[in-house]
Amino acid sequence: MAEEAFATEGRTIDNQWGQICNQLKMEFGETAFDSWLKPLSIGDINDGVMNICAPTAFMKNWVVTHYSDRINKIWEQQNPSIKKINFIVQTSFGNRRSEDTSLLKKISSTPTPQNIYGCNINSSSFGLVAGSSLANVSNQELAGSTPLNPNYTFENFVVGKTNEFAYAAAKKVAESKNVSFNPLFLYSSVGLGKTHLMHSIIWHIKKNDPNRNVIYLTAEQFVYKFVKALRYKDTAAFKEQFRSVDVLMVDDFQFMGNKGTTQEEFFHTFSSLVEEGKQVIISADKSPTDLDGIEERLKSRLVGGLVVDIMPTNFDLRMGILKRKAEVLGIDLPEKVAEFLAQKITSNVRELEGSLKRVAAHSQLLSGKEITLDMTQDVLKDMLRSIDRKTTIDEIQKKVAEHFNISVKELQSSRRARTVARPRQVAMYLAKQLTSRSLPEIGRKFDRDHTTVMHAVRKVEELIIEDQSLAENIEVLRRTLEN
Ligand code: ADP
Ligand code: MG
Repeated sequence: MAEEAFATEGRTIDNQWGQICNQLKMEFGETAFDSWLKPLSIGDINDGVMNICAPTAFMKNWVVTHYSDRINKIWEQQNPSIKKINFIVQTSFGNRRSEDTSLLKKISSTPTPQNIYGCNINSSSFGLVAGSSLANVSNQELAGSTPLNPNYTFENFVVGKTNEFAYAAAKKVAESKNVSFNPLFLYSSVGLGKTHLMHSIIWHIKKNDPNRNVIYLTAEQFVYKFVKALRYKDTAAFKEQFRSVDVLMVDDFQFMGNKGTTQEEFFHTFSSLVEEGKQVIISADKSPTDLDGIEERLKSRLVGGLVVDIMPTNFDLRMGILKRKAEVLGIDLPEKVAEFLAQKITSNVRELEGSLKRVAAHSQLLSGKEITLDMTQDVLKDMLRSIDRKTTIDEIQKKVAEHFNISVKELQSSRRARTVARPRQVAMYLAKQLTSRSLPEIGRKFDRDHTTVMHAVRKVEELIIEDQSLAENIEVLRRTLEN
């Protein structure tokens, strides 16, 4: 009877895993799925803790870093009785090991025991409490805390024109007890370094002033904790915990949501901390005034300190970041490959870093095969294809026409006057550079054949070397098209 139940459960789990695999394949694409997810298998399940086995430590670490959040989320939806997932190594001999190789440690973006050796389904549901207030939290909360990323330090943050102000502000609040601006509100679109700066502040404080109480958590975690406190009628302890800190840091504030009572609680916590001269640091994906669902009085308090944005990266910063990350990963990154990546992957630093890690992992898998431009293009082809879809030839024609003050019609016409012919060549050149369209495809958009496009590309390549002002014009166009 018990055996039958177990067999049924086993089948259900297998079915569920099958469904999950289908979903992962859809989300991440066939290539990624075949390389990383297909080799995984379900291991033992005990007391709601499920083991997922990977054949090598490398694979396990890769999956933990890149896919575990998603796998956890989908399992959670499929089968709420699974409380936790551990990723383990199971070789074909059946022994389970958790060994590591040096590069793997470096590749894993969060090489803390929790990240490497297991994932907690609830890891996003709790806050992290750093500094001496560690003592105030229960074990259960610590067990579910989000680990601080040891790589997210000021030393590892590459500073450029677009983020220097945010960096300076973060450094200042980390260094000085007497706050000159409160709150510090950092905002930017995703993947530009807000969380990195937040963690850097904590590492700095932990190192220099370990007795300061710091609470760092996401707005979602704040909401979760508050709702839990309400449910267990424990709001006094909640208030006490939050109001006794020296530094309160709330990441991803946009998720504070529309919840009236939680926002009200946050407002009071916030106000009392600021009044007492305690530092509050907040990050979000929008400026305080643009945040949706946040009460006016809270917004106006949020703009009362220093509001700083991190702007999208520029080419130089992307190059700097690639070089630094390559150093950290211990890989040899040829200048040409760095330039290619910095030119192509412009959306955010997370994607840029992800692409570098993929190339590094590929080279590592092939026993240290040299990184080349060809290999990079091949490894990243899915990613590059989706980027190309973002910049279209139509858009290039429109921007180039605007820039040179002519109409798109003229750009596509057969007129040979230099004022029109040169911009047309530039547009063809940019189409070749910024999209993966073939020469005939580009030609069609200009009502020309592929030899004309080829000629235009060569011509512009020559001109860029001779003609500084044209080179600058093209650089400006490239940047507007990429961002
Ligand atoms: P956000 O919180 O703004 O979404 P993150 O702080 O998570 O972004 O940054 C995404 C990734 O990019 C992280 O791995 C981070 O280390 C990296 N990153 C972002 N900006 C920089 C930078 N200026 N220098 C080095 N790494 C950076
Ligand atoms: Mg973040």
